[in-house]
Amino acid sequence: MKILQVLTLRGPNYWSIRRHRLIVLRLDLEDLDERFSDELRGFYEALVGLLPSLEEHFCSPGCRGGFLQRLREGTLMGHVIEHVALELQSLAGMPLNFGRTRETRNRGVYNVVYEYQQERAGRVAGRAAVRICATLADGERYPQAELAADLAELRELKQAASLGLTTDALIQAAEQRGIPWVRLPVRDVVQLGWGVKQRRLQAAQTDLTGMLGVELAGDKDSTKILLQTAGIPVPEGDVIRRFEDLEEAIDRAGGFPLVIKPLDGNHGRGITLNIRTYPDAAVAYDLAKQSAKTGSVIVERYHRGGDYRVLVVGGQVVAAAQRVPAQVVGDGRSTISELVARLNQDPRRGEGHDNVLTRVELNQASDWVLRQQGHSLDTILRPGEICYLKNTANLSTGGMAIDCTDTIHPENRWLCERAARWVGLDIAGIDLITPDITQPLRLVDGVVVEVNAAPGLRMHLQPSEGTPRNVSAPILDLLFPGGSRGEIPIVAITGTNGKTTTTRLTAHLCKQTGKTVGFTTTDGTYIGDYLAEPGDNTGPQSARLILNDPAVELAVLESARGGILRSGLAFPHCQVGVVLNVSDDHLGSYDIETLEQMASVKSVVAEVVHPDGLAVLNAEDELVVAMAQRVKGAVGYFSLDPEHPVLRQHLQRGGLGATVINGEITLLEGEKTIPVLPVQEVPLTLGGTVRFMTANALAAVLAAYRVGVNLDQLAAGLRTFAAGVAQTPGRMNLLAVQDFHVLIDYAHNPHGYRAVGEFVAGWQKGERIGVIGAPGDRRDEDLREMGRIAAGLFDRLIIKEDDDTRGRPRGEAANWLQMGVTETVATRVLQVILDETEAIETALKQAKTGDLVVVFPESVQRTLALVLGTPPQ
Ligand code: ATP
Ligand code: ATP
Ligand code: MG
Ligand code: MG
Repeated sequence: MKILQVLTLRGPNYWSIRRHRLIVLRLDLEDLDERFSDELRGFYEALVGLLPSLEEHFCSPGCRGGFLQRLREGTLMGHVIEHVALELQSLAGMPLNFGRTRETRNRGVYNVVYEYQQERAGRVAGRAAVRICATLADGERYPQAELAADLAELRELKQAASLGLTTDALIQAAEQRGIPWVRLPVRDVVQLGWGVKQRRLQAAQTDLTGMLGVELAGDKDSTKILLQTAGIPVPEGDVIRRFEDLEEAIDRAGGFPLVIKPLDGNHGRGITLNIRTYPDAAVAYDLAKQSAKTGSVIVERYHRGGDYRVLVVGGQVVAAAQRVPAQVVGDGRSTISELVARLNQDPRRGEGHDNVLTRVELNQASDWVLRQQGHSLDTILRPGEICYLKNTANLSTGGMAIDCTDTIHPENRWLCERAARWVGLDIAGIDLITPDITQPLRLVDGVVVEVNAAPGLRMHLQPSEGTPRNVSAPILDLLFPGGSRGEIPIVAITGTNGKTTTTRLTAHLCKQTGKTVGFTTTDGTYIGDYLAEPGDNTGPQSARLILNDPAVELAVLESARGGILRSGLAFPHCQVGVVLNVSDDHLGSYDIETLEQMASVKSVVAEVVHPDGLAVLNAEDELVVAMAQRVKGAVGYFSLDPEHPVLRQHLQRGGLGATVINGEITLLEGEKTIPVLPVQEVPLTLGGTVRFMTANALAAVLAAYRVGVNLDQLAAGLRTFAAGVAQTPGRMNLLAVQDFHVLIDYAHNPHGYRAVGEFVAGWQKGERIGVIGAPGDRRDEDLREMGRIAAGLFDRLIIKEDDDTRGRPRGEAANWLQMGVTETVATRVLQVILDETEAIETALKQAKTGDLVVVFPESVQRTLALVLGTPPQ
């Protein structure tokens, strides 16, 4: 077996609209082709022995054990690998169940498709699955140790990709609300929503969190002074920088018991609590000094009581939890160190913040706490005796959390809300010490010890005891008020031909509203009037550039088949999805062999239209019309023929459409007819003579209308969108040269040849001279078909080739074209001149008064330079 190719899909795709995270393994089964699992001796037993949990896979029988039944009855290796890849990931803590395996035109070659949670883990699982199946199929053993190593690697990859519990929870809540998100390539910043509507966050800190509030909260003394000013109780105390000042500070704090801690600490580092003697204070001072970045140390009164964390979001308390320091309970037999080891075996305890609880680390701080209680690590505690291991309750030092959201006294809630406001934080964790949270602080000598920016959410989301609180939801409400999903309108455009033109025109129409429009095309990615990135940008990466740009208010995205097949769309849904046409281009690549399959690829754009959005479909293209069944939103049809039955029926049902009536581009809404502009006045259509351009304009008008461009703006936009070398280089550029004309166009498939041919056929002033070629990566029969079409169109023909033959030997593509031409008798004069420049020069020399020279160039700029006699740009 051999893996030929691995694709990682990250958005709606050919295989699934809903499952975005898929791995596609293109697999050559080689000697295992046609060998069914039941014919491989011992394979079933060995596989089930290694992965007994495959029992859980339903597969096509739809019940437990379903896949194993298939395996016994006999199934092909690709299908087995699919299930093993899923099972490996599930065993590593990433439960998944979607998979598909499909044969290709090539014998023994299959596409094995399966879900992943984490993409690297997904790819690794696929390779491991192939390894396992190949080994077992050979009748060899796959050692348990090796399986364990595979699973360990997968777990590590999952771990490495995690953004932490708090961020992961916020992302999950965003997904539930339908808010799109992406991880930015810096730090652990996550973007929620798109364009101007986006918000960013890093754990519980957001781009709305004020810098000043964060700084004030980070300085515990400033916080205390502010809160004191507000009348909120805080511990009495002082800040010192020198050891000499310790004694005086102890006095000012009102004597022992005391707390000494760094001014700018966190995670309980460098804190000593309940200090009762001067020598202990001296040790505590040194400890705090070491952890204090600023070198300043707080000396303050020690308050007795429980330790509480209150979470305030957008001025409201949303959760409260009591935090209990790590402790062990004696059994009369075990030493403290044994008890701690046992405690740490709790599967809920992990490293750092990535689990419900954190393992207890025995260190200097715990030694000190044990000593204070008169114990050492070797002490055997009496049955039921409690021994604290830490003196702070931070979860990060192994503490526990008990939810108390329902019992906190209303006055304390109010106090916490005020504390957050006084410090100036939209999301704040307020630390309280009080003997009784159900009583107002002032009655029981409780205090606020600290206000935290970016508080961890773990103790509220997954308290060790009590009700878990969904604190992610209020944070998202704060970021996206009014139920907004943080989206900007997206118009996605696909089709075999006309994508770039329609994208540019739609963007131009949308710009008439004054909005900042971002758009991607084959000629580059643009924001407003500027080129943000040159290149053939019709895939998800360039779409993401637009969607991530904080200035973009509306996105128009050319979404070509290549991107959809290679990695899926960049967005889970769009406002408007346009499908212009489906014809025979690019067949044979990515295992897309038939027009129907190609239609399924392009249909992805129609199927991701949001239920309140619009799919703009070509009424004249049957394959496109068929997509309407799978559209979740409304459909808008365009047709050059106002009487087209598909359009008519749709209007009868009150639908939306666009057509040409009495020479005018017209919007239709049920019975209503809304004229927009005479086609004559739309330069893109060359005065209405280029029918396919009129069709593109209809699609653009529908799309733009749906995203809020009004009729005046539509007319203004259509009028000012010049079909010329500036705005649409290479798309129907008709140039007057001396006493003849030259038409430069990118037609590069039979459908494009025919479309341009309609215009060429209408040329009556003189001879029609064609300089034709085609991209070398198309199928032989497509090249031949282009030759046939060209033969019917031109009086004289020159066949040339691109500089880039896309893998073909020079002259071969030209041969196929020529074969098509000569099969068809119409053309009188045929020349083959492989070099594009020479071919064009020859044609220009032949042209006489009134003639039309048509060039289908590789390079528009080079062609323009030749035609206009200027040096190339
Ligand atoms: P974190 O990062 O968890 O907020 P931190 O390093 O910022 O911790 P503080 O919040 O100031 O430190 O203190 C940690 C814990 O120490 C408090 O939650 C509380 O349990 C205890 N503590 C701090 N100051 C006092 C005090 N004056 N009286 C009693 N306990 C205190
Ligand atoms: P690509 O796949 O190269 O990105 P595209 O779909 O973006 O192409 P355009 O660049 O807009 O298409 O146009 C390329 C050529 O396709 C045009 O020059 C013209 O020959 C042809 N074409 C454009 N629109 C249509 C249409 N609606 N129907 C048929 N052919 C068209
Ligand atoms: Mg704190
Ligand atoms: Mg294009």
